[in-house]
Amino acid sequence: MIFLHLLTVQNGGIKRSSLEVLSRGRELVDSISQSNEQSAGNQAELHAVVCSPEVASWDEAKWAAELGAYGVDTVWSATDEAFKEHNNQALLSAMQSAHAQATDQGAKPSVVAMASTEGVKDILGALSMRLGASVVADVSEFGVVAEGDGVLLTATRPVMASKANTHVRAQAQHLMVSVRSGSYGILENGVLENGENQNGENENGENQNAKPLNHQPVRIVPLKTEHADSKLQTQIREIITAAADTIDLNEAEAIVAAGRGVKDEAAKALIAELAGVLNAGIGASRALTEAGMYDPSVQIGQTGKVVSPQLYIAVGISGAIQHVAGITNSKVIVAVNKDADAPIFEVADYGIVGDLYEVLPALIAEIKRVKG
Ligand code: FAD
Repeated sequence: MIFLHLLTVQNGGIKRSSLEVLSRGRELVDSISQSNEQSAGNQAELHAVVCSPEVASWDEAKWAAELGAYGVDTVWSATDEAFKEHNNQALLSAMQSAHAQATDQGAKPSVVAMASTEGVKDILGALSMRLGASVVADVSEFGVVAEGDGVLLTATRPVMASKANTHVRAQAQHLMVSVRSGSYGILENGVLENGENQNGENENGENQNAKPLNHQPVRIVPLKTEHADSKLQTQIREIITAAADTIDLNEAEAIVAAGRGVKDEAAKALIAELAGVLNAGIGASRALTEAGMYDPSVQIGQTGKVVSPQLYIAVGISGAIQHVAGITNSKVIVAVNKDADAPIFEVADYGIVGDLYEVLPALIAEIKRVKG
C-alpha cells in the first residue's frame, strides 16, 4: 500500500499543513506495516510528490534529508516553471503521473492524503476522476487500515460551521482524503514537535519513549509530467496574495484578531504591536473587514479563513458562531473583551475581562519583559 502526499514548494519551503499530513501518514504507514508483518501482507510506504519551480537550483540531497526526517520513503520530484504559481493542470498531471508510476510498481492499494488548502480544493474533484478514487474532503481526523484488496478509511468531518461532526467510512482500492490544517502535530525524526512521541508524554519535558526513525535513505524519482504550455487550457493572469511582509494566516503559529471593539487607529496600532511582539499574523472579524478597517483577505470565520494556530488572541470580538467556526482548531484561545457575558468566553481557554485600551498595553509590556 502507498500513502501519496502532494507537496507544493513555494518560496523554497514546505508548508506546515503539509508536514502535519506527512506526520499522520508516517504514523499510519508504521501501524499498517506492523500489522502486515504479522499477517505477511505487503509493506506500506510513504511517498511525497514534490512540485517545485526550482528548476535550476533543485537540490536533491537537501530534499532527501529534509523529507527523510519526516519519514518519507520515496519522493516523486516534478520541477517545472509551471509550479511558480498555482497551476491546476500542471499539479493534476504531476499527481496522476506519480500515482500511475507508483501503482505500476505494485504499490496498490493507495491513499492520497493532502492538506485541505485552497489549491488542493481546486484539484480534488478532477484528481479523483483521473485516479478513479473515492474522496473524503476536509476531515479533522482520519485513520486507514488495509481491508481485502482495498483500504478502509474512517474519518471525522466537521460540518455546519463546525457545530457538528460526521463520522465517515469509505472503502475502495484508491482513496483520497484532504485534511484540515492544525489537525495533527508534526513528527520529526519520530518525535512530536512538543517533545512527545506518538506513544505519550513525559512529565519532565524529556522524551524517554521517543524512538528516532530508523529510516531507509529516501528514494528520489524524477517525474515525467506531460506538461507543455500548449496543452494548458487556463492561464494564470494574476495571483493576489497578502503583502509579502504579512504572516500567512493559514500557516501562522500565533494570530491576533481584531473585532468591532477595535474602533480606531490607536486600537489598531495596539493590535499591530501585540502581533509584532508575538511574531503573530493579524486577522479580523467580518465586522471590521466589512467596515474597511482590515483587508477582506484576513477575515476569519465561516465566510473567511479557517485557521489553526497554536495561539489565537481575539480582541474585542463577541464570538458569533460564524466567527467561532473559523477558530475552533486553534490550540489555545485567549479572549479580551469588556463584556464578561460575551459568548467568546465560552470557547476561550483564557479570558481577560477588560477594556482593550488598558489590557493590551499591559499585555505587550509583560510579554516584552518576559522575552527580555
Ligand atoms: P460585535 O459582535 O459587535 O462584537 C464586538 C465586541 O467587542 C463586543 O463583545 C464588545 O463587548 C467588545 N468590545 C467593544 N469595545 C471593547 C473594548 N474597548 N475593549 C474590549 N472589548 C470591547 N463574522 C466573522 O467574523 N467571520 C465570518 O466569516 C462571518 N461570516 C458570516 C456569514 C454569515 C452568513 C453571516 C450572517 C454572518 C457572518 N459573520 C461573520 C458576522 C457575524 O455574525 C458577526 O456579526 C461578527 O462576527 C461580529 O463581529 P465582532 O465580534 O467583531 O463584532
